[in-house]
Amino acid sequence: MLGANTVSAFFTNNKLKETNTPAILGGAPVVSSAPKPKWTKWPIWIPATDEPQVLEVLRSGVWSRAAVVNQFEEAWAKTIGAKRCVTTVNGTNAMICSLANLDVGGGDEVIIPPYTFIATPQAVLQTGAMPVFVDTDPETFQMDVNKIEERITPRTRAILPVHIAGLPSDMERIMEIAKKHNLVVVEDACQAWLSEINHKKVGTFGNAGCFSFQNSKNIPMGEGGAIVSDDEELIDRCYSYHNYGIAHGSMVAKHGSGFSMFGTKLRLTEYQAAIGLAELKRLESQTVTRSENAAYLKAQLEKIPGIIPYKTYSHVTRVSFHLFPFRYKKEEFKGLPRAAFLKALNAEGVPCSSGYGTLNNQPFLSNAFQTKNFKKMYPAEMLDFDKYLERTRCPQNDIICNEEGAWFTQNLLLGPRSDMDYIVAAISKIHKNAESIKRSVRS
Ligand SMILES: *Cc1c(COP(=O)(O)O)cnc(C)c1O
Repeated sequence: MLGANTVSAFFTNNKLKETNTPAILGGAPVVSSAPKPKWTKWPIWIPATDEPQVLEVLRSGVWSRAAVVNQFEEAWAKTIGAKRCVTTVNGTNAMICSLANLDVGGGDEVIIPPYTFIATPQAVLQTGAMPVFVDTDPETFQMDVNKIEERITPRTRAILPVHIAGLPSDMERIMEIAKKHNLVVVEDACQAWLSEINHKKVGTFGNAGCFSFQNSKNIPMGEGGAIVSDDEELIDRCYSYHNYGIAHGSMVAKHGSGFSMFGTKLRLTEYQAAIGLAELKRLESQTVTRSENAAYLKAQLEKIPGIIPYKTYSHVTRVSFHLFPFRYKKEEFKGLPRAAFLKALNAEGVPCSSGYGTLNNQPFLSNAFQTKNFKKMYPAEMLDFDKYLERTRCPQNDIICNEEGAWFTQNLLLGPRSDMDYIVAAISKIHKNAESIKRSVRS
């Protein structure tokens, strides 16, 4: 089976030649005639254009939140098309702040998807509310909206959809369900800066939208987060909360000035905001590049049996791509397990992850349920972890996490088109050699 020098018709256009032997079996990586892609290093920093404002901030000595943070908040609200924005120390706390100020807390249930970063359920737990998982739609990797209503109980107060990978969740349906059941909606848009449904940015559908500017994110500033909303009172409440509870804006008339409100301290610094403003300048053009590469990559990968890239809902007009997710069907790869496929792909020079593990059965949940606060806020039966596991089962998500899910990170989508051809050639080569790779893994 290693005999034929297989150059698929598909690649002759691109002058990419596959060598016979998979790299994992000692062969040369994918392409002998072209250099391996130089995957874009992240974050990007361009001293000449990025540093002037950062240096100005550093030299001014004004480092705690002031004019530059205000400037970033105005720019971010405008970018997203929301009336107001308040920044926070990170995306996790943007969600905690939003939920807490929408009066979500002890004794409440919050509907969330299980295919997300650990920060999502942790944010819910921090408010004292209990996360209730709704299974994943395997085609889109988003919360399956058809399964939300069966998990709504008299305790349900909020839905927290996550636009995972930068692919929009089905916000139209989610808002309908929220309205019907009188629930608030906080969007976890921590991977979705500029994604759109019907030309409206995600983060602007719910009561509040939360963003992250952590270093791996598409607008990196080390750490950072933001809440956007058209509800000005909510933003004033969140602002007060993020600044020790000192009443802000419309809250002064309601509560009086000074330390009149419940709060904590979540302020962004001036130098983080200056870094964010520099990164923000690139966001639009990078988003275009990622989208073009992703569309091309998706079309090519769909031709390989057993590789099923993400789908988007019908009204999605833009995807921001923090990740490029796909499903791997080992049946089409001679039964080669996902872990071996990923190892072989990495050996070809294409970094690829198996993605998120299951969250809805992890010890952080039972640990939270054993805290004094949870014991006071919920009846013992609700804190019985076996019963909780039964109540929040997500079988489709289990398959994605344990067997089929995989993703490329956003920086792989920033290079030239030939990088996409390289990825396709690598996977194609593994597909053709799946049997011999499987044998070598077994022996
Ligand atoms: C990154 C991320 C968060 C949390 O953001 P931090 O800024 O790291 O706190 C929340 N949800 C999702 C889906 C994320 O990817």
